[in-house]
Amino acid sequence: MKKLIGMIAPLLVAMAGGSAAMAQNAEPRWSIAIHGGAGTLERKDMTTEKDAAYRAALQAALDAGKAVLAAGGTSLDAVTAAVRLLEEDPKFNAGKGAVYTWDGAHELDAAIMDGRTRAAGAVAGVTTVRNPILLARKVMEDSPHVMLAGKGAEQFASEKGLELVPNSWFDTPERLEALKKVKTGKVTALDVDIKFGTVGAVALDTHGNLAAGTSTGGMTGKRWGRIGDAPIIGAGTYAENGVCAVSATGWGEYFIRVGVARTLCARMAMKGESAQAAADATLADVARLGGDGGVIVVGANGDAVFGIEASGMYRGRATSAGVNQVAIYKDE
Ligand code: ASP
Repeated sequence: MKKLIGMIAPLLVAMAGGSAAMAQNAEPRWSIAIHGGAGTLERKDMTTEKDAAYRAALQAALDAGKAVLAAGGTSLDAVTAAVRLLEEDPKFNAGKGAVYTWDGAHELDAAIMDGRTRAAGAVAGVTTVRNPILLARKVMEDSPHVMLAGKGAEQFASEKGLELVPNSWFDTPERLEALKKVKTGKVTALDVDIKFGTVGAVALDTHGNLAAGTSTGGMTGKRWGRIGDAPIIGAGTYAENGVCAVSATGWGEYFIRVGVARTLCARMAMKGESAQAAADATLADVARLGGDGGVIVVGANGDAVFGIEASGMYRGRATSAGVNQVAIYKDE
């Protein structure tokens, strides 16, 4: 009997090891998800051209991130590349195309986090930095601080040689129209039709490192130096190796109060929830308070998932296992 067990045991161990290795091989080696904001996005309000233009822009950002990851680059670089491209695109509320403040200017927020070390960089209320995600990254990599705001952040940007532009460079007629509507009281500053459009990316690289980045112009008609959730580590942005990377979009005040990104990761780490379950539960909490929006999540296992508490979210995901999807409406 002993002899039999002695013969079978190594076999069982080999089989178990074999299936673990197979499971590992089946998992994506890299993974990325992006968003371009969530809100009221319904087919009836979209023209075919507009729908196609958004999908092409999302695919381009996804491709920029994929190229970095597929070449063995870092998740930080992939996230930076994808967010930067979306910042340059006037269709999204980040960088060029950012919404207007009550006073008719643009104040931009951004954050980035490295899941490997949990180093983070964030900027809030910057007005002349062309790509706030690059400044957030500089704060993380080249300053002793995590978050810089306003004039000081601008000074840091200029000292580090980042590209500066006049505030009017961020102008677009569509966003000006939205401000006018808010000012004439046709909609409120928090009306679902105009408040979203933030961009973000999360990624897992072939080295097993997670990263997250988010960039936004905030909310139309914001006042008094209002800062949203995007640059707040643990609210709109969070990454922790072995757990998950999250970027959020939505009604920032609620996302701050729920601590969305950190709570979501904590649910995965402490309760063992899947990325999807944790995203759904955390957004349900946002909804209970009266907020809405969405999240993109990449888990340590390479799962790339969306959580949506709105009728749509501009989004995309891709993995080394062959997933490639861009989508707009919640039901696709
Ligand atoms: N979360 C952003 C903010 O509150 C807005 C958005 O996602 O569009 O500033």
